[in-house]
Amino acid sequence: MATAADVLTMIQDQDIKMIDLKFIDLPGIWQHLTVYRDQIDADSFTDGVPFDGSSIRGWKAINESDMAMVPDPDSAWIDPFMKEPTLSLVCTIKEPRTGELYERCPRAIAHKAVDYLKSTGIGDTAFFGPEAEFFVFDDVRFDQNEHSAYYYVDSVEGRWNTGRDEEGGNLGYKPRYKEGYFPVSPSDTLQDMRSEMLLTMASLGVPIEKHHHEVATGGQCELGFRFGELIQAADWLMIYKYCIKNVAKKYGKSVTFMPKPLFNDNGSGMHTHQSIWNGGQPTFAGDGYAGLSQTALWYIGGILKHAPALLAFTNPTTNSYKRLVPGFEAPVNLAYSQGNRSASVRIPLSGTNPKAKRLEFRCPDATSNPYLAFSAMLCAGIDGIKNQIDPGSPLDVDIYDLSPEDLAKIPSTPGSLLDALKALEADYEFLTAGGVFSEDFISNWIEYKLDNEVNPMRLRPHPYELSLYYDC
Ligand code: GLU
Ligand code: MG
Ligand code: MG
Repeated sequence: MATAADVLTMIQDQDIKMIDLKFIDLPGIWQHLTVYRDQIDADSFTDGVPFDGSSIRGWKAINESDMAMVPDPDSAWIDPFMKEPTLSLVCTIKEPRTGELYERCPRAIAHKAVDYLKSTGIGDTAFFGPEAEFFVFDDVRFDQNEHSAYYYVDSVEGRWNTGRDEEGGNLGYKPRYKEGYFPVSPSDTLQDMRSEMLLTMASLGVPIEKHHHEVATGGQCELGFRFGELIQAADWLMIYKYCIKNVAKKYGKSVTFMPKPLFNDNGSGMHTHQSIWNGGQPTFAGDGYAGLSQTALWYIGGILKHAPALLAFTNPTTNSYKRLVPGFEAPVNLAYSQGNRSASVRIPLSGTNPKAKRLEFRCPDATSNPYLAFSAMLCAGIDGIKNQIDPGSPLDVDIYDLSPEDLAKIPSTPGSLLDALKALEADYEFLTAGGVFSEDFISNWIEYKLDNEVNPMRLRPHPYELSLYYDC
């Protein structure tokens, strides 16, 4: 554990000029403010650095805008994408008047989730391991004016462009639809870039593991890092996205984590592995189904019961629900199984080591705010354990092969963000139990998503509607 003194020494020793204070906004994007080194002292780490929070998406009204960012000394790294020597610090937001953590700060909510777990006696540590997939594109353009509605994605691998392929000739070894997993170069054109992304993450302290091309054509990729304690894992995921986007930019590319940028090929998920430990011992290993403990089975019961509401945080965009459809390795049905990738909860084979026993929730995608998504999943699991929620029988068949009658018996994921938000409105006590999320936070989240995403999407004519109806 680093201290404020350690960070101040680092600033001196490494001749740091600028301090970049980063914090997470409501939807899950890093925002930042850069201060000169003499603006940071030991008090900054307790009182925070003041800033105006009035224009941050979904936060304060203009008449009560004073906020403070409190840097976490454990999050210090030198920013590899800035020219001047700059120390990056991740912050949690505080109300300067009351000294309390701000109840709409996602990182503050994650702290409360961890405290809640400890208070239940179920465990003292929740581990999370997200697997965020993404697409790399040469060019993405949007154009909507009075006379046109135009959406253009130019793939790195040349399959999805709308003209350049013909003009530039056949570019050769292109991964076929759903066959990007995973031929070597020259079919895979992104090897060097992914290695640079991964090594940059390592230089910032993230325990890296691997990288590979993913199933979809169009430059779909995944990098892997080790699981970590809830807040640590969310911090690492933010570094992951930051390094991936900024290294891609150096290569003249852009990256999107949106779940379904391309029609008719695999989307990008953020499968999330999770387990609870107590006193250094895993609590999910036992002699039940798939080597799970009763605690783990109840945790699954909580996740499945609350999934429709949970998805308002783990799959929080209108685009999320274009991924959750049959036929693309994304889960559609709320069921659990060992090894079966069509179930929304999978128990990966983990050998004989009880420490590796975990479950993988396959619904989430990387448009989620990881602090909110991990906290909400933990709350659902805790609710399952506290109320001994039976997850029912496992589904060890391929759900895609079931007859319509049998399929109808399995509950489905919500069909839209609107459905998930309605489910959240009807089922949120598991989130407010233990004071992790406030009721105000949840109603603000629903309102924010309706006003800024669901309704604006409903109001706009879709390009495909032009194809369907223009000649009416
Ligand atoms: N891309 C798939 C999804 O949308 C997952 C593929 C995999 O199993 O890695 O969840
Ligand atoms: Mg994957
Ligand atoms: Mg996975």
